[in-house]
Amino acid sequence: MTLSRRQLLLAFAATAAVPCARAAAAGALPRDARVPGGVARIALGPASERPRAQDDALPLLVAGSTAAWTAIVGIPLAARPGRAQIQVQAAGESRTLDYTVRAKSYPQQRLRVAPGQVDLSPEDQARHERERAHQLSVMETFSLRAPESPFAMSAPVSGRRSSSFGLRRVFNGQARAPHAGMDIAAALGTPVTAPLEGRVVDTGDYFFNGGTVWLDHGGGLLTLYCHLSEIFVQAGDLLRAGERLGAVGATGRATGPHLHWGVLLNRTMVDPALFLAA
Ligand code: ZN
Repeated sequence: MTLSRRQLLLAFAATAAVPCARAAAAGALPRDARVPGGVARIALGPASERPRAQDDALPLLVAGSTAAWTAIVGIPLAARPGRAQIQVQAAGESRTLDYTVRAKSYPQQRLRVAPGQVDLSPEDQARHERERAHQLSVMETFSLRAPESPFAMSAPVSGRRSSSFGLRRVFNGQARAPHAGMDIAAALGTPVTAPLEGRVVDTGDYFFNGGTVWLDHGGGLLTLYCHLSEIFVQAGDLLRAGERLGAVGATGRATGPHLHWGVLLNRTMVDPALFLAA
C-alpha cells in the first residue's frame, strides 16, 4: 500500500497532536504496573529543578526533564492492595500524591535443595545474618547521579527464563521468601553483561546468592547478579551497557547453572521484566 501525500500529512498530524509527555510515557520503561512487586510511574509535572520525592523517609527515583518529571516508585512484594502515597517537594512546596496498588497473586513453586540450605547450621545461620546485614547496607545506596531515562535495559544474559519474579517458593516442603528476581537459565560460563550503564558497588561470595555483583545505576536503582561462577569486576568500576561483569554459575543456593537477576528501586525488589522491551 502506498499512501497519498494527503494521507501522509494526516498521519503526521495525528502523531504530532499527541502531547509529548503522553507519547513519551506510552513506550517508556519501566512499564507502569501498580501491583506488589511492580512499579508506579507517577507524573510530577514540570518544574525548573528536579523535584524530590519520598515514600515515608525513603528517597525515590525522579526522572525526566524540566518539562515533565516522573517519580519511579518500586512497590514491595509485601505491599497490601489499596491506597498508597508519596511525598513530593518542588519549588518550595510539599504535596502528597496518591496511587492505588491492585492485587496480584503469584503462582507457587516447589523446589528441592540440599537439606543444609533450608535448615541452616548455627555457623551458616550466623554467616547468613552477617551477610544479610551487609546486603541491606548495599541496598541503601542512593547516588545522586540519576540514570538517564528511559531505563530500557537489555537482558544481562540470553537464555530461557526458568523462574519468574514473585513466585511463592516452598523449599523441601517449607515456605520461604518469594522469588524476588528473574532466573535465566544458561550454560556454565556464559557471559553476564551490564543491562544499563552502572557502577559496581559490591562483589562477594555469599551463602545463598553465591558469586554476586551489585550495580548502582543512580537514584536508588540497583541491579543484582547471583550464582556467578566468575566475577570480572570490582567495587568502583564504571560499566557501560553491554560490558561483561561475570559468568553464569551455580554457586550459593542454586539447583543448576542460571543467573538470578534482581532489580531494586527505593530498596525494594521489583520485577525485572518491567525494564525489558516486550
Ligand atoms: Zn532466582
